[in-house]
Amino acid sequence: MTRAWEIEGFLGSSDGRMTMDGVDVSALADDFGTPLFIFSERRIASNIERLQNAGEKAGVRLKICYASKANSNTGILKAVRAAGSDIEVNSGGELFKALNAGFSPSQVIFNGTSKTEREISEAVTAGIYAIQADSIFELERIEKVSLSLGIRANVSLRLVPEIRSDTLHGLQTALLTSKFGMMPDEAVEAFRRWREDDPALSIRGIHLHIGSQTPDAEPYLEALQVLYKEVARIRKETGRRVAHVNLGGGFPVNYLRDPGFAGRMADSQKKLFASELDLGEVLSRGWKEILGRAEYDGIGGIFQDLELLIEPGRNVIADAGICVTTVENRKTRPLGAGQGADTWLFTDAGFNILLSMETYKWYYQIVAAERVNEPHATPYRLAGPLCDGGDVYFDIEGKRRLPDHRLLPQGIVPGDVLALLNCGAYSIAQMF
Ligand code: PLP
Repeated sequence: MTRAWEIEGFLGSSDGRMTMDGVDVSALADDFGTPLFIFSERRIASNIERLQNAGEKAGVRLKICYASKANSNTGILKAVRAAGSDIEVNSGGELFKALNAGFSPSQVIFNGTSKTEREISEAVTAGIYAIQADSIFELERIEKVSLSLGIRANVSLRLVPEIRSDTLHGLQTALLTSKFGMMPDEAVEAFRRWREDDPALSIRGIHLHIGSQTPDAEPYLEALQVLYKEVARIRKETGRRVAHVNLGGGFPVNYLRDPGFAGRMADSQKKLFASELDLGEVLSRGWKEILGRAEYDGIGGIFQDLELLIEPGRNVIADAGICVTTVENRKTRPLGAGQGADTWLFTDAGFNILLSMETYKWYYQIVAAERVNEPHATPYRLAGPLCDGGDVYFDIEGKRRLPDHRLLPQGIVPGDVLALLNCGAYSIAQMF
């Protein structure tokens, strides 16, 4: 029997026990203790291959830059590199780890709103593919550093395109009210000011990022149109040729592979967590439209050579990782006269391990790792080990972002091992 949460060739079961890449998950928990993160190198490779295929389908020169903020563990970075991806970093620490994991400078792009002179200096000295400037002030800072080093810096410009998406507010990054990027007018001005032969800055591209877990195609199609418009405008108003455009990341992951597990979750939440986006389809449509417009506007040549960068984080690593936790305590709480009782289970993984379960009320599906063949139909209240009333697997404010109960086999007791699925992104990265 194949269950909806299984992923062929990677996440499955044998004799009623969950396996990852054919390895018994609970046996790993026995060997290493819990809470334990387990990752599949195979799944990382297949996710990157899927993205590469999306570029091929669209007939575009695609440069995939894995967003290492999602998970910058060195083993993960090595697996990502081996699978053929380049990398996006967001701090000097991530730059160090990327180079240390074997990425060449030409594979690295550097984002961030608050880069220090030291971080800029390290990026310029390494000679990375692009430092993505967040403001004109930052461009001037990069210029200063690069002149003092006597090394020309490759840069691209992050725009704020005012595109809304249907994700959580804190994950929206392309609105004027968000903290990221410069106005398109400022970008045009920058191309005018720092000419092709500028000794300090080689401005090569423009960049935007709509947000994370963007559930629909429309914002991406809109973003591609914005990128087109700005490339055309830069050409027309400054005569400059843009070498690459960067669509950012945010491609969603289906956290609700088995919707039956979601209990009483609000429908609006289900849309966000269950989203599947066919990037090949989106890029094919969007790129075709762009090429058509470019031909019509007489600048088709620019787009034949143009490189398209993407920065997927979650989409590469979320479903390649699970978090295994052990139930350590159990209790019953009456619900009020005649209303029965809740059974509570206490695990050894809390929001110290999965911070987004608290900050964003993020949903992770849970499977009893040694009892996968049993019906997951008994409701439990789940909580973690911390001395904090918010360290629970449901929403204490009653907003139903998370279901009140998790559905697991009957009679779960201390010692049972549970697997939280899709935990590879923004988990370990937020622990420190
Ligand atoms: N690029 C930029 C600039 C980001 O800020 C982020 C995440 O916040 C990403 C890429 C990766 O997003 P995701 O992991 O949703 O693909």
